[in-house]
Amino acid sequence: MEKITWLLPKLRVKAAGIPHLQHLTITPGEMFCWNHTACAITYDASARYAEAQLLHEFGHALLNHKQYLRDIELLAMERAAWDQAITLAHEFNVQIHEGYIEETLDTYRDWLHARSLCPHCAATGVQTKRHHYQCLACLHTWRVNDARTCQLRRYRATKNTP
Ligand SMILES: [Zn+2]
Ligand SMILES: [Zn+2]
Repeated sequence: MEKITWLLPKLRVKAAGIPHLQHLTITPGEMFCWNHTACAITYDASARYAEAQLLHEFGHALLNHKQYLRDIELLAMERAAWDQAITLAHEFNVQIHEGYIEETLDTYRDWLHARSLCPHCAATGVQTKRHHYQCLACLHTWRVNDARTCQLRRYRATKNTP
């Protein structure tokens, strides 16, 4: 039996009472993901902390999270979704380990840090627009790829940055 099976109908009932989530679908998938365009959550019942991750994605859905413009906004969205997940966890009597939240937020912080390093001189740059950074030291500019929230979770940065 999937460990999170009991939680799915509860979340569907909750979604049905929320105007922007009336058409929400929650289906098995390769990974945990909130897709704003499709109004869909996918989940991987075999994943570590599956209940917590499901509540986190539901948090994104509740907050109606869409595309972000600046990378820093993504980190704020992740934290906001966890805040929602904590509220939901109290409601549904689910345990969420604070250490796990910090661990996942760290992957976003590391990602943000890695993106902001100038490929030319390794100084820290600033994001000038959606996919663009500029180095504050040498003025070099570079492009970064899109990172959707659910793709990022696969990313594991090495922790040996200076
Ligand atoms: Zn998230
Ligand atoms: Zn530079």
